[in-house]
Amino acid sequence: MNEDDYKQERGADDEREERVPARSRAIPQAPYISLQGEGSWANLLTLLEVSPDALVLVDSTGRIAHVNSQTEALFGYLRSDIIGQPLEALLPERFRAAHLLHRKQYANSPRARPMGEGLALYGRRKDGTEFAVDISLSPLLFDGSLHVLGAVRDITVRRQLEERERSARESAEARLALLQLVLDELPTCVYFVTGSHARLVLANRAAVTLWGSEWPTGQPMLDFLGTHHIRLFDTHDQELPPAAFATLRALHEGQTVFQHQEIIRHADGTNLPVLVNAVSVDPHLLAGLEAEGGNRHISSAEPAALVVIQDVTSLKEAEQLKDQFIGLVVHELRNPLAALKGFATMLLRHSQGDRGTALASWQQEALTEIDLAADRLNRLTEDLLDVVRLEAGRLVFHRESIALMHTIRHVIAQMGRMSDRHQLRFSTSLSHLQAQMDRGRIEQVLVNLLTNAMKYSPAGGSIEVTLQVVPEREAALISIRDQGIGIPQAEQAQLFGRFVRASNSQTQGISGTGLGLYLCRELVLQHGGDIWFESTEGVGSTFFLRLPLLPSTSEPSA
Ligand code: ADP
Repeated sequence: MNEDDYKQERGADDEREERVPARSRAIPQAPYISLQGEGSWANLLTLLEVSPDALVLVDSTGRIAHVNSQTEALFGYLRSDIIGQPLEALLPERFRAAHLLHRKQYANSPRARPMGEGLALYGRRKDGTEFAVDISLSPLLFDGSLHVLGAVRDITVRRQLEERERSARESAEARLALLQLVLDELPTCVYFVTGSHARLVLANRAAVTLWGSEWPTGQPMLDFLGTHHIRLFDTHDQELPPAAFATLRALHEGQTVFQHQEIIRHADGTNLPVLVNAVSVDPHLLAGLEAEGGNRHISSAEPAALVVIQDVTSLKEAEQLKDQFIGLVVHELRNPLAALKGFATMLLRHSQGDRGTALASWQQEALTEIDLAADRLNRLTEDLLDVVRLEAGRLVFHRESIALMHTIRHVIAQMGRMSDRHQLRFSTSLSHLQAQMDRGRIEQVLVNLLTNAMKYSPAGGSIEVTLQVVPEREAALISIRDQGIGIPQAEQAQLFGRFVRASNSQTQGISGTGLGLYLCRELVLQHGGDIWFESTEGVGSTFFLRLPLLPSTSEPSA
């Protein structure tokens, strides 16, 4: 049927309808376009051609009254093929019955709206192929008869994009669910944060246990801690400022914070010692964790971090038990040791001073050995006690004004008497240097370093000690240089750790505990100073001490 045929038939319809009184026709009152009068049909058809969309005009009986050329192109029909056909001709077979029903419902309440809201609509071309469409409907009163103008848009590309987005979202959600599952099974607390305020992106179940409360996604870290009155402290019981939190440091400085010791103090006052590793991560890696609803917004321009927190309560308890045990043993060793040392010294003195029976030379040697062994044991027990005190924060310092040069000379003289194979020398351009320090502790450090210099130079040689004042007279710089076995390059970084010994000292059979340098470092740090060394294996080592002087107590050099 072509357009003219359709018009003729339509005229017949109109005549039939005219027999029905106008008021009884159920054309709902609605704000729709009404066209009337001569030329309006032709005008309408011209207008339809202007639209970029495929437009289909359907009359009150549901038949196609007119289509524009875009419709012809889209559906592959000639105008003459479909004018007069029921609209359902443009739909796939399976939708036709349902559509018929919808069309009738629409006729009862016509208004401009999209067709099949929420439904995936399809059109059917003349060749039978289907394509995704978007249809919007507008009622049109033409010469008193209700028509519907449908604008059809091919949305194949949009639908494909939507489909791709949907499947990408589904697979991201599946990955996220898997990640959450894995994280939830971990015994350590793990979370991701983003932005300079550390908004939570994702946390595992252990995080709830650790914090004692659930940290809502999207909430900044400080808000969360503040809400639950959680505070963070360092190992010396000083409250950490936010800038020192491992999590915020990783975000602000973009660095990895490794094994940071923090103490979580909950609102009820309970403490949880933890080790925190905070790794700065590429924010793009978190893009897949973006959540619906905006509470987990991730921007690639903001920093992001992965934080792993390990509760070390049991480790700390075990360490404390071990320290208590060491403390106990050392305490018990002190009395017998004092007796050994005392009697050995007394016997030696008596035999040498013609105050008793003279000893045979082997007896003299044996007693000297006992005396020296008692000294070594004494040093070991004192070192162990210091370690225990340090760990418990019970190492007390007594600062006083000391003449540093005098202290150094005294220690050198004392140590020099212990070996014939080593020549201890002291050089300085200063004539006097006064400093505020704990004399006993500074002597302990010097004795340790000089003992090492001698012990690790088994072939003997000279040991040079220097003292100078570093620029601005802020600190004393002491160096101790030996010509001993040196320290292998690869092991140098760890040498100040507890019980750490270099491999060459062990292969050469030189005994030691690996506690001396650890203690030296702690004692120097407590004085606000620094300790470091330079060493070449087989050539020798130089240890440096930088000890701050209080400006008022130092004197200008001569
Ligand atoms: P100890 O001497 O009891 O083993 P220390 O903590 O004093 O313990 O020293 C740790 C390790 O550092 C030593 O075992 C040794 O391997 C190395 N070391 C220290 N001082 C020197 C030195 N002057 N020359 C070579 N190696 C040294």
